[in-house]
Amino acid sequence: MLKGKTALVTGSTSGIGLGIALSLARQGVNIVLNGFGDVEGPKAEVAALGVKVGYHGADMSKPEQIAEMMSYIDREFGGCDVLVNNAGIQHVAPVQDFPVERWDAIIAINLSSAFHTTRLALPGMLARGWGRIINLASVHGLVASAQKSAYVAAKHGLVGFTKAVALETATSPVTVNAICPGWVLTPLVQKQVDARAAADGVDDAEAKRRLLAEKQPSLQFTTPEQLGELAVFLCSDAAANVRGQAWSLDGGWTAQ
Ligand code: NAD
Repeated sequence: MLKGKTALVTGSTSGIGLGIALSLARQGVNIVLNGFGDVEGPKAEVAALGVKVGYHGADMSKPEQIAEMMSYIDREFGGCDVLVNNAGIQHVAPVQDFPVERWDAIIAINLSSAFHTTRLALPGMLARGWGRIINLASVHGLVASAQKSAYVAAKHGLVGFTKAVALETATSPVTVNAICPGWVLTPLVQKQVDARAAADGVDDAEAKRRLLAEKQPSLQFTTPEQLGELAVFLCSDAAANVRGQAWSLDGGWTAQ
């Protein structure tokens, strides 16, 4: 059913975005990658699954670059059928010390970028009669942690944005949902593991154990593969009436 459709996964050169891109590619979905760092490695991994793969290096904090990327997808792929708003960054500091530039970057990349991709992709989805928008929020879209004010504000905003656009599209064949992972061991979280190891004077394994024990009752990291399979489900016919949800995959974090 998904074969031949096109997905844009923002921030897909690494971590969760790459996991979701690979899961969608296994269903025959053509993939447009986006993000920084190594591009050729992720491109080759996706291409090995036999789908068409593209890349656009738009900086998701820059609305005009996002618009260029959406035009590129229209031109080269005939439009974006599955939009996965995944690009995100983190910064940890108490609010009174929070660098203003980091606040602005987190709001731009983790929240406003989803507005720009959505406003540009939705008309094409409605015209072609099918679409899926999946926003990578977080447990921090539902509950807070100290020292993450910008991230928590952006992710709560993204969950709210998801609900609003889901209502606007409720009678259409386009669904809009959010996924809310707990701890996933990606480069974004490894930085927090390193900081914890340094602060507590413990090794990597013990720092991971302590981070999980604090918040995630399963004591296991959620994986990019599990998130990829949830995205595939949200793209399926079975999920056609799942609308405006914030779907947790958090090892029990928000059940507490
Ligand atoms: P990651 O650091 O591994 O990957 C982030 C991706 O975003 C990379 O491809 C990076 O190049 C890209 N990126 C960063 N800034 C960008 C910009 N300005 N423009 C374009 N691309 C940019 O992080 P991850 O852990 O895979 O996180 C992916 C998403 O999942 C984020 O939105 C994050 O908030 C969310 N999330 C992560 C976790 C976790 O535990 N790792 C938990 C909940 C939610």
